[in-house]
Amino acid sequence: MLANSLIELDRAHLIHPVASYRGHERQGVRVLKSARGATVTDASGHQLVDGFAGLWCVNAGYGHESIVEAAARQMRELPYATGYFDLGSEAAIRLAAELADRAPGDLNRLYFTLGGSDAVDSTIRFVHYYWHAKGQPKRDQFISIQQGYHGSSTVGAGLTALPAFHAGFGLPFDWQHKIPSPYPYRNPVGEDAATIIDASLSTLKAKIEEIGPDRVAAFYAEPIQGSGGVIVPPKGWIKAIRDLCHHCGILFIADEVITGFGRTGPLFACADEDIVPDMMTVAKGLTSGYVPMGAVFMSDGVYDVIADGAGEAAVGHGYTYSAHPVSAAVALEVLKLYEGGLLENGHKAGVRLMAGLESLRDHPLVGDVRGRGMLAGVELVTDKAKKTPLPAAAMPARRIFDRAWDNGLVIRAFPQGVLGYAPPLCCTDAEIDAIIERTRKTLDQTL
Ligand code: PLP
Repeated sequence: MLANSLIELDRAHLIHPVASYRGHERQGVRVLKSARGATVTDASGHQLVDGFAGLWCVNAGYGHESIVEAAARQMRELPYATGYFDLGSEAAIRLAAELADRAPGDLNRLYFTLGGSDAVDSTIRFVHYYWHAKGQPKRDQFISIQQGYHGSSTVGAGLTALPAFHAGFGLPFDWQHKIPSPYPYRNPVGEDAATIIDASLSTLKAKIEEIGPDRVAAFYAEPIQGSGGVIVPPKGWIKAIRDLCHHCGILFIADEVITGFGRTGPLFACADEDIVPDMMTVAKGLTSGYVPMGAVFMSDGVYDVIADGAGEAAVGHGYTYSAHPVSAAVALEVLKLYEGGLLENGHKAGVRLMAGLESLRDHPLVGDVRGRGMLAGVELVTDKAKKTPLPAAAMPARRIFDRAWDNGLVIRAFPQGVLGYAPPLCCTDAEIDAIIERTRKTLDQTL
């Protein structure tokens, strides 16, 4: 089928996630045809370095035959087994055990989902169940962070703090509360790490007091805020916040949907920050995007409260495709690849990526460069001294994205004027260098 007719079919039938529907109808779809390593090829044969690993998910890179084989083997042998009731598959059981083995602290219990949104959603249900089981059902208020993203499920979208995910949906989110982001580049208290941490602790304490200390159920944080513009809190921030939550008797949930599986260096960013959350959500890199899967890691302590609270009754939370054996088989193979050299390569490539992006600081449009490992953001400004944000109307993110695309680079251009980078961990030096060169060219064309 010709690309043009595909574009017409897309226009007529396919609703795209997080797109301007009318804008998309005018613009038309860009169709990807194939991919290998860190390179994707579109329907017209144009080759690009995928600086965003799909949607920060193809951490292993494209075209791993061993992953295809693992999926095919599982499909031939047992394409489906429910995890409901007392049933299960070998792949899911082995995956749970392998992940528990690598998780921080006592996060020994795994609940599998289809992606990140339903993983977050599951934690919200588990948090409620936990407090009911503990005889404190009034703890039904949740706190998260401005500029945070926790998916777009009906309930979980309440924790998300990006305007597009609330505007027009009309749902009551009066159970969720926000504290300011620990955003070093644009923080009213300045860029000093200790001052930012102190300010966050004060605002969280004040928020808990305002809501009522016996009403707060849980606090949610991404170790690095992804969709909010790759905001990197100071090292030690998340530990200080986790400690305060525990001091106040509030559950602490880490959302590692982006940061998990080598994105910031180690398998989990929480390990790097030396913290053990009460629950931790993952998705994306879990299967490297080859098939859908997410997971909730639950601590022994939280699990025991829920299990004892339920007694012999069923805990009524489940999906037909929880712990899907094909996804589990893929995740097991992906884990082998991470530990067989990809994490190491990602570490090296991340150092080169950050050094390359730092070299862009001399560009008149670059106000800030930040990141960790293979996760980075470049914030664009029109005046460096005043940190004047790019006017969205004059320089729409879509135009920067299009220019980068034409220059052979896939990046994310966030509406707040931040370029996002999350390349596959398999990137070669040449591919990292191409990401930097093509970014500079794109910025020159944007001046
Ligand atoms: N949580 C975080 C931190 C995310 O970045 C995302 C997606 O980008 C989600 C949750 C939702 O995951 P999914 O898109 O797989 O539903």
